[in-house]
Amino acid sequence: MSKKPINEMKLKFPSLSANEKLSRIAISGFVGLYDPRIDELNEIKTAVSEAVTNSIVHGYRNTCGEIELTAKAFSDGLIYIKIRDKGAGIEDVARAMEPLYTSLPDEERSGLGFSVMESFCDSVKVTSKLGSGTTVVLTKRLKTKL
Ligand code: ATP
Ligand code: MG
Repeated sequence: MSKKPINEMKLKFPSLSANEKLSRIAISGFVGLYDPRIDELNEIKTAVSEAVTNSIVHGYRNTCGEIELTAKAFSDGLIYIKIRDKGAGIEDVARAMEPLYTSLPDEERSGLGFSVMESFCDSVKVTSKLGSGTTVVLTKRLKTKL
């Protein structure tokens, strides 16, 4: 990653289902400052909303907690995004990231959230601890140079 970001945003919100939309609007506004192509912007919005939905649905299942969304833009066009919750955590991250794996098969979940993030971003890194929460870091380099 290039050294110092040229811009940065940090947002904290409770895990209400309405805030999935807030996260899309917020990341859209931030990345929109840097002339992304429409497909790039849509991919970023979708990846972020998958991660935020996971924090709402899985991380804070049956409870409400705080979600933190951080975004950084770098002069070479790299966008760095971090979605963090302090919820349930994931026991086996490698298994959770397998396409079609879901811990909620009875709730019409398809187990494709991480696959969507991986196909729409250049990198997806997940760190998690059972009982402490989950952090997802997404990066994507915009085709336009900032
Ligand atoms: P879909 O996203 O297609 O609706 P899904 O959410 O089950 O289904 P993924 O987003 O790929 O599928 O996530 C896979 C699994 O990883 C989830 O079923 C859940 O068990 C676990 N998981 C993902 N994110 C979190 C999180 N923030 N906290 C706790 N568990 C998580
Ligand atoms: Mg999901």
